[in-house]
Amino acid sequence: MTANELIKKVFFIEILQGLALTFKHMVTPAVTRQYPKEKREPFPGSRGLHALVKDPETGKEKCVGCGLCAAICPSQCIHIYTSEDENHKKVVDRYEIEVLRCVYCAYCVEACPFGAIALTDHFEYSGYTRKEFYYTKERLLENWDKYMAGDKGKMYLEKFWRPKAVDFGAQQVIKEEERTRQ
Ligand code: SF4
Ligand code: SF4
Repeated sequence: MTANELIKKVFFIEILQGLALTFKHMVTPAVTRQYPKEKREPFPGSRGLHALVKDPETGKEKCVGCGLCAAICPSQCIHIYTSEDENHKKVVDRYEIEVLRCVYCAYCVEACPFGAIALTDHFEYSGYTRKEFYYTKERLLENWDKYMAGDKGKMYLEKFWRPKAVDFGAQQVIKEEERTRQ
């Protein structure tokens, strides 16, 4: 044993160093957040629970049932059932998402030409059964009212996920689709 090691052992230098570090951390402010008591506001545009976008004028879904979101979804968790009305226009009878299978990639939002689907910033949802995570069209429309009401939804679509139809100058197509569905 060297003289240096002997001094360290006799005067408990390493133990004192360890205690000093412990006391230092006891008086240093915590860098972690005490969730769920302390919550952080989600960042705008963050990817949480899905919602179907409601047209503010008609109050109905913007979705036209084109199926692009379901086609691009890597988890294959979007199911769309459509039919034709008496004027041979497509009607979205059912639009369902199995949320437990979703990987929140937002491809569905990106692919939608009409800005008809969104990922809200609501992430605190839980349940006891798989059924609770099977979101129907009605529940997805409710989510829009609950989590994207007012300017929030508008900002989301303008700032983060501009519908492709806007970029390709197809506003007329959107208006036409909306008019025929009223
Ligand atoms: S976020 Fe991705 S995985 Fe989830 S429904 Fe949309 S496309 Fe599918
Ligand atoms: S891509 Fe948009 S419009 Fe087409 S089915 Fe999906 S949500 Fe509806």
